[in-house]
Amino acid sequence: MKHLVLIAALAGATPVVALDVVPVADGVYALVGALSQRSAENLGNNATFGVVVTPEGVVLIDAGAGWKAGIEIDAAIDTITDQPVRFVINSGGQDHRWIGNSYWQAQGATVIASEAAVADHKDRGSMQMTGLNALVGAEGLEGTTLSYADVTFASEYTLSLGGIELEITHAGQAHTPGDAFVWMPSTKVVFAGDIVYIERILGIGEQSHSGTWIEVFEAMVALEPEMVIPGHGNPVPLAGATADTYDYLVNLRTQMGAYIDDGGDIIESVNVEQSAFSYLQNYEGLAKRNAQQVYSEMEWE
Ligand SMILES: [Zn+2]
Repeated sequence: MKHLVLIAALAGATPVVALDVVPVADGVYALVGALSQRSAENLGNNATFGVVVTPEGVVLIDAGAGWKAGIEIDAAIDTITDQPVRFVINSGGQDHRWIGNSYWQAQGATVIASEAAVADHKDRGSMQMTGLNALVGAEGLEGTTLSYADVTFASEYTLSLGGIELEITHAGQAHTPGDAFVWMPSTKVVFAGDIVYIERILGIGEQSHSGTWIEVFEAMVALEPEMVIPGHGNPVPLAGATADTYDYLVNLRTQMGAYIDDGGDIIESVNVEQSAFSYLQNYEGLAKRNAQQVYSEMEWE
């Protein structure tokens, strides 16, 4: 069963293109948003969110990119269950992971994030609001205020609700400094957030580190997940995550290492070999930028 949820006009706003509700395991769902850039249509929810339904309420992985973005996610959850959202886990530092916190806290939910993620939120929050204002617009961001997690942890945290256990692990810097993956032992599903991108190319920004990102991915693989709910794209078995994310990072660093050893400079670094990954959406827009960022990382390693 897979169905689109078209959200009715939100308080007079234009109808919003919906999230795809994808069942993954018993009581486990992915809400799959657009693979494209943030926009007034997608309210900044150009990402994938995770939902775990328990007898005592819902755990949501990632808050969405604002107040109205939170309403959109809440409406999608309403098509699955009448249970209230009791906990929200911010799996990292990107806007669509946490800027909807104030909406969920107003609904009575408790927000959990790694200490490193909260530090990142405080560091980049206002810049992210400026970016969202430019891409989503003032109307789409209406009602949004910055609010931080209620509960934080250094590297590991176990959340128990309705007999369900979720093990949250911050294993290091990946796409953002405070990224964490959420493991559900009872279903062998892992919620990876921005640690895993599927169907579209990942982005390596100044807030990322491609080297430790590989190590974080390997720590997630050690769990032997049967299904991976990524931060972008549809849920996949582990092999799919390895192909679109892990192999991409390993290839780029391997190519860049050889290029730097040959005395290459930053100008031509954008041309290192990545064409095996040109099947990924947004490749043309991001591949060269990723290469330049990895050059900057590796020239001093
Ligand atoms: Zn993201």
